[in-house]
Parts: sequence; structure tokens; C-alpha cells
Amino acid sequence: MIPLLEIRDLAKTYRVPGKSGSKPAQLKAVNGVSLQIAPGETLGLVGESGCGKSTLGKLVLGLTPVDRGEVLYRGTDLVRLSARQLRPYRRHMQMIFQDPFSSLNPRMTVGETLAEPLIIHRLCAATDRQSRIEELLDQVGLDAAAAFRYPHEFSGGQRQRVSIARALAVEPELIIADEPVSALDLSVQAQILNLLREIQTKNKLSYLFIAHDLAVIEHVSDRVAVMYLGKIVETAPADELYRQPQHPYTEALLNAIPQPDPSLAGRPAPLKGEIPSPLNPPSGCSFHPRCPYASEICHQQEPELRHLGSNRQTACHHSDKVGLKKP
Ligand code: ADP
Ligand code: MG
Repeated sequence: MIPLLEIRDLAKTYRVPGKSGSKPAQLKAVNGVSLQIAPGETLGLVGESGCGKSTLGKLVLGLTPVDRGEVLYRGTDLVRLSARQLRPYRRHMQMIFQDPFSSLNPRMTVGETLAEPLIIHRLCAATDRQSRIEELLDQVGLDAAAAFRYPHEFSGGQRQRVSIARALAVEPELIIADEPVSALDLSVQAQILNLLREIQTKNKLSYLFIAHDLAVIEHVSDRVAVMYLGKIVETAPADELYRQPQHPYTEALLNAIPQPDPSLAGRPAPLKGEIPSPLNPPSGCSFHPRCPYASEICHQQEPELRHLGSNRQTACHHSDKVGLKKP
């Protein structure tokens, strides 16, 4: 089967000003990432802040130019298309951001915000527009009166519902959700996650679901890809990854999830230290300075992302030692 989205060896380097007087530095934000998403599938993409998740999302949508690699949408490489050729694909992929306040126009009512994509993409006749807007609001659990209100009149969770409705207006096949619940209270997070799952079933959507911790994406992901300093270090079906991580970084992220169950206490310490700067990445395996399993080889040689079984990959010299020590 052809995946809905296939990313091959995607890379993006930002040039950032060097320290006073020195020449610009190269920041490898995304460094050779390959991923696939099947129709109807949710791929969770997780990693600490700064590891390149948002940049990856923007590369897929063409919001920032690609340096190297391919973005295949149903087999067509979007990277090589002109702006005009790209236009029809644009509609199939939508993005939802962490902060709906900054992505919604404060001077437009919710009705105007939802009408805009319908008009631009000529999706329905003017006479049907109002009922389509009501239908979209209903899908995200808002009542029809919301159309006449402005973004600031809503709570954070309701605003995220509006931005979800706007994404749905163009009937996309893929939604890139970039930390869509990170700014919300825990109880509201659960409501929005449930809504996204409901919508997925109803609309047969695929998601690339970005988060900085593994707790958020556990119940929405079919598969998970773990990213560290611009690279994928592990991919696996979600249930397997949570049960038996095979990269020390994944294990550390799992240990960082607060555990109400006291029988799970006494596991290895969660992540130590900070994520290194991508301007000056460590030698060998970039995780080695923080890794409890690191040995000499990890300082010198970068581990390749290799298959472990048919549907898992990990990039670790010591993957056989990794895994939650369950009591
Ligand atoms: P994440 O979403 O995982 O937090 P980002 O993709 O936002 O990570 O950033 C990855 C790295 O690229 C970070 O070091 C960030 O500072 C850098 N970066 C992101 N956008 C830019 C930009 N426009 N110019 C320069 N550096 C950037
Ligand atoms: Mg981000």
C-alpha cells in the first residue's frame, strides 16, 4: 500500500548569526528524517523542546524550504512542485498549532474565520455557507451562536476547537497537530484529545501528532517516532514502545511521566541534564552525555537507525540493555 505521507531523508539547516564577528553558524534542526504515515493512521512525534519537531511539520507543509530530501504525498514529491502545482495538495494537509490565540485573527468573528477557507477554496455556494459553518461548529462541540463571537471571548480549549473547525473546513486528509494541547489544563487536554479522536474516526483522517512528552500521545497514537537533536532515534507501534522501549532516550521520556502507581517507583532516574545545543552536537551518539548505558563506542560512532523486527527501528549501540525494569 502507498503511504499517505512518506518523508525521505528530510533535512533543514538554519544559518544563525555567529558570536560577535565570527561567521554564521549552521544549526541542523532536522537532520535526515524518514517517516511514513498510512491513511487513517496517527503517528505520534515526540521529543524535548528544540529537537526539531515543529521544523519537521513546517517542511512537510512547505511552510519553510527543504534543504534535502523528499516529501511524498500519495507518491508525489511535493518538494519538487511549483507553488501552482502545490496548491491542490495544500488543501489536503492542515496544521493545528499549540496556541490558537496567535493562529486565529483577533479581528475576525469565528464565522468569518470559518468562511475564509470555504471561499478561498470555493468549497460551497454562498447560500450554503452559513449551514456549513454551523455544521463545522457542531462537529467540534460549539453551538451555532459561536459564529458571531470573537476569539478573545472564548476559553483556551474553545479556541482550540475553533482552530480544529477551521482545519476541518477544507476536508483535509492529514492534520499536523503541533502540540495542540500543551497550553491547556489537564482536564481540557483530555476533552480536546477525545474530540480529535472522534473527528478522526468520522472523517477518516491521518494525524502527525507532535508532543514534547509521551503521556499526551499515548492514547491517540498508533505508532510513535521519538526525535532527538534533529534525528529519529526510535519508531515502534505505540503499545510496544510504551511496554518495551528500545532506546535509552525513550526509556527516559517514559520514566519522566508522573506515575501514580507506587509499585513502579524505583525505576531508573528520569532524564538527566539538558538537551545539547544543535549548534554544537556531541560526538558519536548525540544522546551519549545523558545516557546511563553509554560506553566508549557511543562517544565515537553514531549508531544507525536499524530495524529490530519488522515494524520497529532504533538507533542505539546498547538497545538490548534498554527496557523498563518492571518489579
Ligand atoms: P521543537 O518544535 O522540537 O521545539 P523546533 O523545530 O522549533 O523544535 O526547533 C529546532 C531547532 O531549530 C531549535 O534549536 C531552534 O532554536 C531552531 N530554529 C527553529 N526555527 C528557527 C529559525 N527560523 N531560525 C533559526 N533557528 C531556528
Ligand atoms: Mg515546536
